[in-house]
Amino acid sequence: MVVLVIGGAGYIGSHAARALKRAGHEVIIFDNISTGYEILAAGFELIKGDVLDSAALARVLPRADAIMHFAAHAYVGESVTNPRKYFRNNVEGGLSLLNAAVDAGVKKIIFSSTCAVYGEPAKVPIEENIPRQPVNPYGVTKLFFEQALEAYDRAYGFRFASLRYFNAAGADDSGEIGELHEPETHLIPLALRAAAGLGPELQVFGSDYPTPDGTCVRDYIHVNDLASVHLKALDHLAAGQESFAVNVGTGTGASVQEVITAVEEVTGKRVPRKMVPRRPGDPPILVANPAKAQALLQWKATRGLRDVVATAWKWMERQSKLAAR
Ligand code: UDP
Repeated sequence: MVVLVIGGAGYIGSHAARALKRAGHEVIIFDNISTGYEILAAGFELIKGDVLDSAALARVLPRADAIMHFAAHAYVGESVTNPRKYFRNNVEGGLSLLNAAVDAGVKKIIFSSTCAVYGEPAKVPIEENIPRQPVNPYGVTKLFFEQALEAYDRAYGFRFASLRYFNAAGADDSGEIGELHEPETHLIPLALRAAAGLGPELQVFGSDYPTPDGTCVRDYIHVNDLASVHLKALDHLAAGQESFAVNVGTGTGASVQEVITAVEEVTGKRVPRKMVPRRPGDPPILVANPAKAQALLQWKATRGLRDVVATAWKWMERQSKLAAR
């Protein structure tokens, strides 16, 4: 199939683009390079364009059989202080893409949704059918797009997969691509930087949560496991199956403290850190129940926290060697 990968020069999109290519699909990357990097799209056809540019989309969509949509702003904190940016890109941009797709007759889309659509779930591990009650504008924009997909499915026979990611982390084993965020706010790269002496000491946001060691628990999913669920979702829709939403997580939680321990084991270095107050908007525990993805797509995460940290470390070491040249 020819797959149009919107946001394919970003962290998760670039891993999915490689997985598609390895599986024999043709990939066209469409990315405005605002938070993506051309080097992550190396080796692919790259169209520089914005999802709000309907004319640019109308030119490329007739070549595509399906769309994967990764292009979104994804900082929870920033969505609180600058919601306009989030509604513009994630909602207006998303609708621009959806309408251009309907007009071009492309009726299959795999969407990067998030566990943030659930807000602060009453029950963990999280199942897909609990109420979606996001607690920040980022989650609201993602829920809006999920609901637009549901309406377009009913009205236009548009088929979608909403993949609700938990915490994406790690890097491709090749060491060629990995997480590149500016600014970096995510736990694993910041802990690795602190261990390597490339960044400040790690701030642990809250040690008084109702969790076994008092720090927040998250479900860290390797980015290549994430990429592989996109292939499964694509095959599912291509086989004429119904639209669906699934959690994409491992089903196993790790606390901030456990992540720090894994980083210390993998790097052989201590993570300098200090305990600081909670970060607003962080629920204590977010862990997926991944049973639906397993039953529907025969997909299951294959890689654990150590592997996530080890590949992220390999990527970071390579980045710092390149920077030192
Ligand atoms: N976290 C932390 N210090 C940091 C960054 C994150 O203690 O510098 C914690 C954060 O409170 C959360 C977990 O690590 O419990 C994962 O945060 P991250 O920003 O990586 O992902 P999020 O869960 O916000 O998507």
